Amino acid sequence: MGPVVTSRISQIRRISCVLTILRTGDDDVAIKVLYCGICHSDLHTIKNEWKDTIYPCVPGHEIAGAVTEVGASVTRFKAGDRVGVGCMVNSCQSCDRCAGGFENLCPGIVWTYNSVDLDGTVTYGGYSSNVVVHERFVVRFPDAMPLDQGAPLLCAGITVYSPMRRHGLDAPGKHVGVAGLGGLGHVAVKLARAFGARVTVVSSSPAKRREALDRLGADAFVLSSDAYEMKVIYSSIFSDQTQARGSFIGSYICDGVGVVHAGCGGHHGRHHQHGVREHSTDPAVGIAEAQRQDGAGRHAREAPLI
Ligand SMILES: [Zn+2]
Ligand SMILES: [Zn+2]
Repeated sequence: MGPVVTSRISQIRRISCVLTILRTGDDDVAIKVLYCGICHSDLHTIKNEWKDTIYPCVPGHEIAGAVTEVGASVTRFKAGDRVGVGCMVNSCQSCDRCAGGFENLCPGIVWTYNSVDLDGTVTYGGYSSNVVVHERFVVRFPDAMPLDQGAPLLCAGITVYSPMRRHGLDAPGKHVGVAGLGGLGHVAVKLARAFGARVTVVSSSPAKRREALDRLGADAFVLSSDAYEMKVIYSSIFSDQTQARGSFIGSYICDGVGVVHAGCGGHHGRHHQHGVREHSTDPAVGIAEAQRQDGAGRHAREAPLI
């Protein structure tokens, strides 16, 4: 029997339509949105679970589409180009962080949706028909990459790709632990495998075992409720091999699992937590938020689609 699909259309009580006149400024790129990935942040935002939603809200920050018009000063793009936009669309562009390529840490960052732009307008995301974005925050799709398949790389992909690159996990011989096999986690597994790393998935759900091992090609799967196995994998990633191999760097890529992984980083390993739960009281949330932004920044502009 195939999957059962239940229509929830009857539960939609109100549909808001946001009409905005988009003006293409000198540095802007106008884009017809052809695909947009769904990020869990979209769901948190539309339900106001982070208590900062500006209604009406149009989410979506894994945008893939085609350029329809460019401003007079735009040099990197032309009409017809296949492009993408991630989780930010503007920043102050004058502070030290912006100058260093860390616009994601700029105090004046403007998120792709649910944010107030420099001109005072509220931003609307990729579930729109069209978006207009400063060219600094537009990336080019490689010719061989389908727009629909590449769109999730613009948030989920870059969020796990960036720390892997920055912390030296993009080479064979590493051992990467991925805690949580959700939107970020499954991309982390695929990237780590592509880098040639050994990958261990840690999950609270036994149902994820087959997906991790058979579909995504992980090397090992550990149930987080199995205290013994957790101890073994902790030792494997963060202690024994680190000392034995010298250059070994272990890493847990935590997929917004919202739990405290005490000591997860060990003495030699690294612990990256991405994503923020809706009602988390986890003291690590502040760190998670910073790292989420960290992961979504620099390489998003530079080279996420290589
Ligand atoms: Zn996202
Ligand atoms: Zn700035």
